[in-house]
Amino acid sequence: MKFDFTPTKDFLIGIDSDGCVFDTMELKQKECFTPNTIRFWGLQGVSKYAREACDFVNLYSKSRGINRFLSLIEELDWLARRPEVKARGVKIDVPQSLRDWVKRETKLGNPALTAEVERTDDPGLRKTLEWSLAINDFVDMIVGSGVPPFPCVRESLEKMRGKADILVVSATPQDALVREWEEQDLIRHVAAICGQEIGTKKESLVLAAKYPKNRTLMIGDAPGDHKAALANDALFYPINPGDEERSWQRLGEEGLERFFAGTFAGEYQNRLVEEFNAHLPATPPWKTE
Ligand SMILES: [Mg+2]
Repeated sequence: MKFDFTPTKDFLIGIDSDGCVFDTMELKQKECFTPNTIRFWGLQGVSKYAREACDFVNLYSKSRGINRFLSLIEELDWLARRPEVKARGVKIDVPQSLRDWVKRETKLGNPALTAEVERTDDPGLRKTLEWSLAINDFVDMIVGSGVPPFPCVRESLEKMRGKADILVVSATPQDALVREWEEQDLIRHVAAICGQEIGTKKESLVLAAKYPKNRTLMIGDAPGDHKAALANDALFYPINPGDEERSWQRLGEEGLERFFAGTFAGEYQNRLVEEFNAHLPATPPWKTE
């Protein structure tokens, strides 16, 4: 699907949804992903370390927001290198077939994995699929409806309205986005919702080319959001993981003002990115071998 949009304002603001507007990443990762990772990958004996590895990879590292199959491998690899895990004699097993599949597949999702399991009947891939489907069940069961936006989101949207075209730029399926933004009465602020089916974040932000330089801002919580902004020569306002409330408050108090006044690019932008990177380290806080 090719998405097009005619600017109605002088500025464009793209906003990511999961983990940025809504505090759903903590809930999904901690209550839906991690318990199933422990259950399916035999990590009961090292659950404490498994939880730390899952939190680190999915929430508080450079890998925040990456595809679930890639993050599974990364979590298990970190665990395998942890002395405490070795000391407990728990075997960490990453199927070679999974490593091979993520390397050759470009659409890493349940449909492609289902087809691959049917084709190969590989036990490692089958277990991965069961794990992935169980996560979806947990998300349906636990996330449900009614996760409100972070504090200060509504105030910031009010400040943007009238001055900027606002787009939701997200890798979440379109239906879920529309439902979440409608439920919380946020949809009236936005010009369009660009979910997974419209394109990648990078593709959706191509619209920045229709606005003058330094008049497009992407608001996001993961390195992928930053990359999408950079690829389209857009500015980036980070919602710092673990410090979301303060980030939104600052956006409303100074970030938006600077963006609309043309004083965002340069030193202010650099300072924000430095701070964002400091929130997402590349190596874990524990010892590895
Ligand atoms: Mg996000």
